[in-house]
Amino acid sequence: MKLTIWGAAQQVTGSMHLLQLEKYNVLIDCGLDYEKDTYQEENQYFPFDPSEIDLVILTHAHIDHSGNLPTLVRMGFIGQILSTPPTADLTELLLLDSVNIFLSKQNKHSKGRNRRSSGPQPLYLHKHVNETMERFVTIAFQKDFKVNEHLSVTFIPVGHLLGAAAVILTVKDGEELKKIGFTGDIGRKNYPVLVDPEQIPQVDYLVTESTYGGRQHSADTNLQDKLVETINETCVKFPGRLIIPAFSIGRTQSLVYSLNRIFSEGLLPPVKIFVDSPLASFATNIYRKYQHLLNDESQDFYRRKGDEFEFDELSYVQDKRESLSVSNYHEPCIIISSAGMLEGGRIQDHLYYNIQNYYCTILFIGYCAKGTLGNRLLRGDPIVRLRNRDLMVYATIKQTDLLSGHGDHNDLVNTVKTQDPKKIKKVFLVHGEIKSMTSLSEALSEEGYSVEMPLKGVGYDI
Ligand SMILES: [Zn+2]
Repeated sequence: MKLTIWGAAQQVTGSMHLLQLEKYNVLIDCGLDYEKDTYQEENQYFPFDPSEIDLVILTHAHIDHSGNLPTLVRMGFIGQILSTPPTADLTELLLLDSVNIFLSKQNKHSKGRNRRSSGPQPLYLHKHVNETMERFVTIAFQKDFKVNEHLSVTFIPVGHLLGAAAVILTVKDGEELKKIGFTGDIGRKNYPVLVDPEQIPQVDYLVTESTYGGRQHSADTNLQDKLVETINETCVKFPGRLIIPAFSIGRTQSLVYSLNRIFSEGLLPPVKIFVDSPLASFATNIYRKYQHLLNDESQDFYRRKGDEFEFDELSYVQDKRESLSVSNYHEPCIIISSAGMLEGGRIQDHLYYNIQNYYCTILFIGYCAKGTLGNRLLRGDPIVRLRNRDLMVYATIKQTDLLSGHGDHNDLVNTVKTQDPKKIKKVFLVHGEIKSMTSLSEALSEEGYSVEMPLKGVGYDI
């Protein structure tokens, strides 16, 4: 059997791992690699023939794990895609959103030019997403699913995002039975709404993410206190507005639930809250649909108080006109909008109207990649450019990592440490910058594990 890391090799995005069994090829994840500006061109070819892949297994819905599935289907893949049920639903939302991003880029590029075709070609269209969704077969967590007489699959909950799973494959290789684990992305304990990551059973080989290798989350431990303090400073003591850029799927739901708890427990006087993202509204419905998969605390809250994602102070903003009226709302308020790194989306309108407002605070709850507007604000740029205008930054900029969806260095080490170093043959590190991987590799080697940091396309006989 051969394992080849075709994506997220010594980088974060583009997860794609090929496992070649005897006459049966399994692809674990098929994500978009968007490390380069030219990513649409970069993702349009595969280093193998998509028609020769027999099965895809998807760890979770995030676009760097799922975002190139429609290209695979468009180029000839006709097998099934296995995932948990919430992952299938969230993937459909994210892939459709991805098409909209491709189309809007194309439109933007072709504006002012005569030929519409001059922009980057969309990697895939709505019809390819529909064809992709028809290939999904969903399997519940912790159920052993027999694919054929040589292969079975189990999904283990890992927190991180609703539906996210580690994939455990049991492979009959000749007379031998081998277990191979793929962690996908590993979440954190005590994360609002999501279950804690569960223990990965003993495997022979583990392919693990390494995003936060060498980094610890901050000592801030209480999200509720942080939110109460920030809202109090911005919207209660002063008549200000708090803008929280947030990814529409995952972070927004965890944040809304946390705010529901704060206001329903009377920890602050009522403050109006707007969730301004149509994608967030759709995703919230999926979280409601899988309420039984949320953590015990939020299920208990649901039994006592009802819908975790609906309360008096909260409004979901639907259309664009409504969104513009939020900018003109003159009472203190909280605006949750996307995109999380401020690159596009309705958040840009809110920034445009508020970044010069002394009474505005912008609270970042996620990572902002270099080169993004979010990153420029976080590093303290005094002037930023929005709608072709240079604007002075008078708003207060804050950040917390309490809603980061990834486990930190210790969480990653502890995930691997549940494996007996005498029994596991190899730990492969993926989904991390080289610096993070090196730190994690060193820590794991000290614990007695044999660790590899595979280069893209290098195959391992396992
Ligand atoms: Zn993820």
